[in-house]
Amino acid sequence: MSLIVQKYGGSSVADPDKIAHVARRVAETAAQGHQLVVVVSAMGKTTDALLALAQQVAPTPPPRELDLLLATGEQASSALLAMALQALGRPARAFTGAQVGIYTDTVHGQARIRRIENERIRHSLDSGEVVVVAGFQGVTPEEDITTLGRGGSDLTAVALAAALKADLCEIYTDVDGVYTADPNIVPDARKLSRISYDEMLEMASLGAKVLQARSVEFAKKYTVPVHVRSSFKPTPGTLVTKEDSRMEEVVVTGLTHDRSQAKVSILRVPDRPGIAAQIFGAVAAENIVVDMIVQNISRDGYTDISFTLPRGDRARAVTALEQVARQIGAQGVQFDDRIAKVSIVGVGMRRHSGVAARMFSVLARERINIQMISTSEIAVSCVIEDKYTELAVRALHEAFELGKERTAAE
Ligand code: ADP
Ligand code: ASP
Ligand code: MG
Repeated sequence: MSLIVQKYGGSSVADPDKIAHVARRVAETAAQGHQLVVVVSAMGKTTDALLALAQQVAPTPPPRELDLLLATGEQASSALLAMALQALGRPARAFTGAQVGIYTDTVHGQARIRRIENERIRHSLDSGEVVVVAGFQGVTPEEDITTLGRGGSDLTAVALAAALKADLCEIYTDVDGVYTADPNIVPDARKLSRISYDEMLEMASLGAKVLQARSVEFAKKYTVPVHVRSSFKPTPGTLVTKEDSRMEEVVVTGLTHDRSQAKVSILRVPDRPGIAAQIFGAVAAENIVVDMIVQNISRDGYTDISFTLPRGDRARAVTALEQVARQIGAQGVQFDDRIAKVSIVGVGMRRHSGVAARMFSVLARERINIQMISTSEIAVSCVIEDKYTELAVRALHEAFELGKERTAAE
């Protein structure tokens, strides 16, 4: 008998029929004699709807109350799934994150899991019940409800799998695995049978929302093998696992795009020590996380500084920076919301040269201007004009031959 943690995403539990379908699938697995912990997301787009609701009553909702509100989405779907299982004659019990002892820090909206007390889950499993857990949430030591960041039900599942030393962590979603690129944008994207933690982490951080980046970080830290697969089809999905030597033979494993960022530039900044600290200090004081930063070469003692950030934070950043610009005698602040970041990812890049140059020449061939560039050991990212995203992603997918079956890593 094995212990399996399964997670079903929002689209998999979007309506009563889908919940009934998930219940049947869970009941079948339980009938094979496995112990099961099932983590669910909120139904469909519930989290977005709750966020919009909050914004209608308060333009910047207080984080503590916002978390209390958002956590209800998962509370509803977990209760409904447990009801559907019981209707099939399968004993099941639903719990909130707090009820199963998922303790977090106090950073509302982005809380980190500190510890999990799993006695209650163990007890329920030992009495033969399927344990259904509301994803995306935890509780502080002061008993305030927190949420784990968007896509956080993935983290709930991985963290429970680690805490319970589960044999398997399965992430059920609306695609049947991790693809070389978002299959909704690139028609000939190919499903990967395996991907390393590092590559998956980089892809998730750079915009592939199929897994939450933090959940991959957690899976890597505790070596939890994660199987990403379809809620609707029985086919095997993608195993996220430890790197092996064969994976390094493939230079580019996948590519991602991210359309959620904006670019801000501070023009004609006096080029002297302490200025960057002042600029980014003001941004940090607003709790805004900056991504790429580019500083131009200095001319006549002045330079331009540009950076990218989440688009939702752009207005606050510009307001804060207009003040800084006046203080330091810069010319002004500009922004651009119509940007996208496209990235190529692969552990093989550690050992191969010329990959970035190849990416740039593919974009040049399509006459796409590169506005910013950043690299890591296993990724290269370019900021481009948003309207060219699909063109860029498809051209790169073809140029790096990602649609072709690979033999090296599979
Ligand atoms: P869930 O609601 O199940 O958590 P998400 O919407 O968070 O599902 O994640 C699944 C989506 O991720 C897919 O529908 C797909 O559009 C997107 N996606 C982006 N990049 C990839 C990729 N490389 N492979 C698979 N899916 C991807
Ligand atoms: N419901 C939350 C969200 O939409 C968490 C999740 O689905 O994983 O972000
Ligand atoms: Mg998700």
